[in-house]
Amino acid sequence: MAEMVPELGGLFDEVIARNPGEAEFHQATREVFESLGPVVAKHPHYLDTEVIRRLCEPERQIIFRVPWTDDRGQVQINRGFRVEFNSALGPFKGGLRFHPSVYLGIVKFLGFEQIFKNALTGLPIGGGKGGADFDPKGRSDAEVMRFCQSFMTELYRHIGEYTDVPAGDIGVGGREIGYLFGQYKRITNRYESGVLTGKGLAWGGSQVRTEATGYGVVFFVREILAAQGKSFEGRRAVVSGSGNVAIYAIEKVHELGGKVVACSDSSGYVVDEAGIDLELLKEIKLRDRGRIADYVAARGGNARLITGGSVWDVPTDVALPCATQNELGADAARALVGNGCRIVAEGANMPTTPEAIKILAAGGVTFAPGKAANAGGVATSALEMQQNASRDSWTFAHTEDRLSEIMGAIHARCLETADEYGLPGDYVAGANIAAFTHVADAMLALGVI
Ligand code: GLU
Repeated sequence: MAEMVPELGGLFDEVIARNPGEAEFHQATREVFESLGPVVAKHPHYLDTEVIRRLCEPERQIIFRVPWTDDRGQVQINRGFRVEFNSALGPFKGGLRFHPSVYLGIVKFLGFEQIFKNALTGLPIGGGKGGADFDPKGRSDAEVMRFCQSFMTELYRHIGEYTDVPAGDIGVGGREIGYLFGQYKRITNRYESGVLTGKGLAWGGSQVRTEATGYGVVFFVREILAAQGKSFEGRRAVVSGSGNVAIYAIEKVHELGGKVVACSDSSGYVVDEAGIDLELLKEIKLRDRGRIADYVAARGGNARLITGGSVWDVPTDVALPCATQNELGADAARALVGNGCRIVAEGANMPTTPEAIKILAAGGVTFAPGKAANAGGVATSALEMQQNASRDSWTFAHTEDRLSEIMGAIHARCLETADEYGLPGDYVAGANIAAFTHVADAMLALGVI
């Protein structure tokens, strides 16, 4: 990773001072600023026009109370957020995260990343993100429904198919999108399918949306491997997490001839040298909302549950962090390098710490940042919006082909941009620069707004 050039240092200090205590947002902006040195050297108008300063300030930020009643009749209060970060390329677009760790700094980091990710898809979507500090774990369906209805009772006035289009993220899947869409429909008296993505197939959803983030990461790695004259055939992979992104990443690695030997959840990780049994994992995680320990108990054989240490201690060719931000730190990076890992591609948003990225680079590991590698989820959301707008419904095969093409195009664009700026093979610089110039050019064309 490059150091920040002095021309951008002052601006970065200002971002820190204006947004105190938001460590994740600082981290996400720093990574982009560190890539922009060669851009402002070549095109100083990006500095003169203050477009970078504008880009760091969300267009609109909404914070609201979410009151609801639990199954015991007790009133609960959560805090809801929607940060509408940038709409130069299209309506604000990005997921909702329900997790106790959610606060403004998390939503802003995710929203900032989303601007660049969405630009890389080449589709007409701006960037935004939202969520709440609500923990769906251990809550009944009825409690989740009441929470979602209360959340939407405020959010509905800020969103719309041409304004802002939320989707899922951690803690928000098909069940939550259903309750949110139902409440939106009821309040507005409109069947406005394009207001949310990640919908069920029976009510305006798209084929492949559920699988898209995981499949997309693996398509991206397939492109990296192909550029190096290799393929997935016979390669080992380790995936962190065991949620929606992880599960469909595992599925696609297996389809492409690789073998995933480990995955994890917050209680530990499982090593299964025979290859993760995906049908079993799906039953436990998606159907029963269970723990990884249940997988080990049901699988038997040589599958082992390890509750200390880190999933990154397991030797692998390809590592796919698909859990959450800052899950892969310096020690994990050293273990991966030491065990001969060749590729790390981020399925989650910002799972690799800045120090770990440096260690991976020094160790000769190819690193694909989330805003490029995990863009398949939001890209397929944009395909869902296209289908909703035309009242059409595409086949699985057609939608997956489109996803595969989009991931190929993002990969090519990252490499071409990195080459253009004299940084061959640097996917971080390629992704940040390609996305930044795309968004900044659109902002400049639209005037000072
Ligand atoms: N939350 C996902 C992401 O991080 C998907 C967002 C969407 O589909 O709008 O990109």
